[in-house]
Amino acid sequence: MATSIGPAWVKNLEELRRLEEFAGDLEFQRDWRAVKLANKKALAAVIKRRTGVKVNPESLFDIQVKRIHEYKRQHLNLLHIITLYLRLKRHPELGITPRTFIFGGKAAPGYFMAKLIIKLINSVAEVVNNDPEVKDRLKVVFFPDFNVKNGQFVYPAADLSEQISTAGKEASGTGNMKFAMNGALTIGTLDGANVEIREEVGPENFFLFGLTATEVQSLKAGGYNPLGYYDSDQELREVLDLISSGYFSHGDTQLFQPLVAMLLYRDDYLLLADYRSYVERQDEVGYIFRDEKRWTRMSILNTARMGKFSSDRAIREYCQRVWRVKPL
Ligand SMILES: *Cc1c(COP(=O)(O)O)cnc(C)c1O
Repeated sequence: MATSIGPAWVKNLEELRRLEEFAGDLEFQRDWRAVKLANKKALAAVIKRRTGVKVNPESLFDIQVKRIHEYKRQHLNLLHIITLYLRLKRHPELGITPRTFIFGGKAAPGYFMAKLIIKLINSVAEVVNNDPEVKDRLKVVFFPDFNVKNGQFVYPAADLSEQISTAGKEASGTGNMKFAMNGALTIGTLDGANVEIREEVGPENFFLFGLTATEVQSLKAGGYNPLGYYDSDQELREVLDLISSGYFSHGDTQLFQPLVAMLLYRDDYLLLADYRSYVERQDEVGYIFRDEKRWTRMSILNTARMGKFSSDRAIREYCQRVWRVKPL
């Protein structure tokens, strides 16, 4: 980067926009991919040391790190992972894009459902990572004790940033900004700052899915029936049935029942309503990742267009518009 736009972006983040000129430059693209690959290798080493799981740095790093909460829908991400797993079990030769799914984050001490989600992440990881039929095409990792220190390894290593909260629930989010600034593409709902990120980077460089906040409201007002989605979507039904069967819990059919029952009979955060749209968008992510020139161009454009999310800019605007104070 020092040979293209220099270091001025460090003090003035809008300078990143000058990267747009290099988005299609094949030599610059190669350098960009080399940096991302080095970041992924560094994270892979930390993952190996902390969890014992060996991950492939060439695979798509699909990352969701944030507090564990039902509204943030880590379990929607899990439904997609199990969907891919079932597709591979049914068609072992399927040419899917190899992916490493990385989760991190803490649950509040008394939040039973959040802890059950962590349990399910680890249980799915144990099955998927050790199934010889998967042939290492899918890996799932729960990164323990996620914090700002080890976050410095995580955000720069992402190819895909998971920002999949139910629309209307996230005030802003900041992880979404850290990822996009570091060249990850976002799969996300129209929620919080995802809206502004998508406007800035361009809708063609953002993987949008799901209901809008207005659609969420009207669906709930009309009497939302999650079972209808279960009945009409075979793939979704097979995923939920697999969890219920005890497949991920050594035959224990009770362990994850509170989670499955929540989804089937309440689903306050509309996972089942957004499932099909999410999986379709993820299929597109996997397809585009194989086109490395296209993906790298989108990645560079994400970083180039994130200047607005500078904290310097935010504080300057507060000084002018809210506090009406001048710099000393
Ligand atoms: C940025 C950050 C968060 C916030 O993540 P969101 O995706 O915005 O919820 C939480 N924890 C750590 C350690 C972070 O660095």
